[in-house]
Amino acid sequence: MSDQQFETFDAIIIGAGFAGLYSLYKLRKLGLNVRVFEAGDGVGGTWYWNRYPGARCDVESMEYSYSFDPELEQEWVWPDKYSKQSDILRYANHVAERYDLLKDIQFETRIKSAYYDRNINTWTIETSGGQKATAQYCIMAVGNLSTPRVPDFKGVDSFAGDWYHSGLWPKEEVDFSSKRVGIIGTGSTAIQIIPHVAKQAKHLTIFQRTANYSLPARNGPLPEDVRAAHKKKYRELREQAYFTPFGIAGYPPPEKAATDATPEEREAKYHQKWAEGGTISYLFSYNDLLLSPDSNKTASDFVRDRIREIVHDPNTAELLCPNDHPIGTKRICLDSGYYETFNRDNVSLVNVRSAPIEEITQTGLRTTTDAFELDSIIFATGFDAMTGAVLEMDVRTSDGIDMRERWKDGPKTYLGIMVAGFPNMFVITGPGSPGVKSQMILSIEQHTDWITDCIKNMRAKGINRAEAQPESEAKWVEHVNEVADSTLYPQANSWYVGANIPGKPRIFMPYVGGVEAYKKICDEVVENGYEGISLSP
Ligand code: NAP
Repeated sequence: MSDQQFETFDAIIIGAGFAGLYSLYKLRKLGLNVRVFEAGDGVGGTWYWNRYPGARCDVESMEYSYSFDPELEQEWVWPDKYSKQSDILRYANHVAERYDLLKDIQFETRIKSAYYDRNINTWTIETSGGQKATAQYCIMAVGNLSTPRVPDFKGVDSFAGDWYHSGLWPKEEVDFSSKRVGIIGTGSTAIQIIPHVAKQAKHLTIFQRTANYSLPARNGPLPEDVRAAHKKKYRELREQAYFTPFGIAGYPPPEKAATDATPEEREAKYHQKWAEGGTISYLFSYNDLLLSPDSNKTASDFVRDRIREIVHDPNTAELLCPNDHPIGTKRICLDSGYYETFNRDNVSLVNVRSAPIEEITQTGLRTTTDAFELDSIIFATGFDAMTGAVLEMDVRTSDGIDMRERWKDGPKTYLGIMVAGFPNMFVITGPGSPGVKSQMILSIEQHTDWITDCIKNMRAKGINRAEAQPESEAKWVEHVNEVADSTLYPQANSWYVGANIPGKPRIFMPYVGGVEAYKKICDEVVENGYEGISLSP
């Protein structure tokens, strides 16, 4: 290392999304001197980068927001049932300003490496511009879906038109009118983009490898009386959310199994849920949908029947029917007019499972059987999820522990928050946490509260180093796998298992025991004197 002057802080936070903002707020309250480093030129994380047409949250607005300040939740007005990206970004900016967070955030700064020196118990981060800073604590608030993946198709550089990745969308509006547009991917993102671009483009060609289940959002303006009623009970609902599997209040878990209902009863229930809209509501039709293949089939069949009903062309409908995974084992998509879009004359669906994309050409793309002329290509090809952002950095320690080496067979964490061998480093909603399987902001708050309590406790007791014990980490990883294996989740080739990244180890990464069970475990760890964590002066 050079002898240049390092800036020194008590804590460094990487990322200024919802996790980074709240961590800054909390650590500052502890009296720590904190610096946040953020690659973008603004706050908001996911909602800063994913500006693609149609981007919306699939969790209802009144739930998908911070709960830490009752005044904030009372004063903020969400216009829609499901918020659009620009409203969520406006909210993130409001929070940053309201709590005077901006002065401690350094924007347009990407972190290249993080190095822990055991002798001096200090983390040193280096930015891609060569700037260095040190701190006792390093908080990874890097997000789970923040490393966009443009598949390495041959020829991308030769394409003469414009191409976009959904997760790196330009700030300026993109006008697709009179363009022949191709979109690769049919995940949650593409399903939101497609109806919007179809309305503009001269022609939209959708390249689908795997069909997904999508449910109607039934989105619309949030009526004032609904908003007011929710605000009146906000405290109670926020509390309730912690005692649910997904961290979302207002959806009492079902008590009945699908196998205990008659076919007529089930059909009526699914129709009611389909009409209501939303994913949790549908998954909560019965309590065994994610446990029993037979029960799941009834819910999956119902959606396939709706697709066949909506889409006029029988071949297109059949291609859109998901058939390789039980409903809910991949994140269910939420749409506004997705299947209906396939009835437009300017939209066509291409099966790139049977004839894969071979290369991007100067004028479009070529599959093994056909060539397509395109003016613009949208890659809605997803992310190197859950581990991508951490492993993009060179994270290592003075005693030779290298994060890429430690996670080469899949990520290992204690509670999804700490990694053995990396003292005083905390990951917010990392692999092994229920984060991505929950209302993300609730999990962010729960994790951050736990981390800041841990740091507060350390400071009160003169403890300088907290480090997950390898045995407790191993036990946690085993528990995460055990819970996942008791469900149908691991059956799907999803980003939950890293299946979208060639060569990524197939490990089921999220904790699916539910928010309630997870919080209980985290609280017990604290009650037992930070069980599983070595605390040293
Ligand atoms: P994704 O679910 O990983 O989907 C990526 C798509 O690209 C898949 O259809 C995939 O096909 C396809 N693809 C990748 N490589 C390909 C190739 N070489 N050839 C053809 N197709 C290829 O990514 P995403 O849609 O961006 O969604 C990721 C997650 O972000 C979601 O699950 C959700 O958690 C979150 N999200 C949430 C919202 C919301 O809140 N409403 C909106 C968007 C995203 P295969 O399936 O065959 O791999």
